[in-house]
Amino acid sequence: MSFSALNLDPKLLQAITDAGYSTPTPIQQQAIPAVLSGRDLMAAAQTGTGKTASFVLPILQQLMSQPVAHPRPVRALILTPTRELAAQVSEQVAKYSQHLQPKLKHLVVFGGVSINPQMQALRGGVDILTATPGRLLDLIGQNALKINQVQTLVLDEADRMLDMGFIHDIKKILALLPKQRQNLLFSATFSDDIKQFTNKLLHNPLSISV
Ligand code: AMP
Repeated sequence: MSFSALNLDPKLLQAITDAGYSTPTPIQQQAIPAVLSGRDLMAAAQTGTGKTASFVLPILQQLMSQPVAHPRPVRALILTPTRELAAQVSEQVAKYSQHLQPKLKHLVVFGGVSINPQMQALRGGVDILTATPGRLLDLIGQNALKINQVQTLVLDEADRMLDMGFIHDIKKILALLPKQRQNLLFSATFSDDIKQFTNKLLHNPLSISV
């Protein structure tokens, strides 16, 4: 299978060519059509499988085809357990969105660094926000952003988020999101805890295991 068989916009295909990828990885082959169709997703995938592009590419495609409101509400929210992973995801968002015109705005926020520059960067709004849970809640508490217009929620490395004790933060975040939304959950392992959590969160998800 080639990337062009996945119905991605030529501007995204250009970025994929620039990155030097010739064929979609197994998770990309399965996840990209499902995300584009609006379905929830439960993916068992380790780092290194190409999982990040499997959600970033279709999210970009969905967002670029919609009119932009002013100020821009967060339409895609990507939650990660660590700042390192948040930074890596954000780099991939930048890479795959580089040819989009008009540009989509994206931002990464995490704890352990000053909150003020993040609050300033959020003024005017962003389309895609990558965040660690605690800092996201801090920013919401400071009225720096709202998440009530999020269309797509990604939980990346959900097992690590639960292991690191983020369940309460995640529950608070879920309560602030619109009920009607797409949920994409990625996890390396599926323990009973994760299964219980996903059963409540996901609606008729496509399950992928790579
Ligand atoms: P991830 O599993 O998202 O952490 O991605 C692992 C690495 O694979 C990243 O450095 C990506 O740039 C790279 N990658 C993603 N998709 C492809 C692909 N289709 N072909 C080759 N490399 C890829």
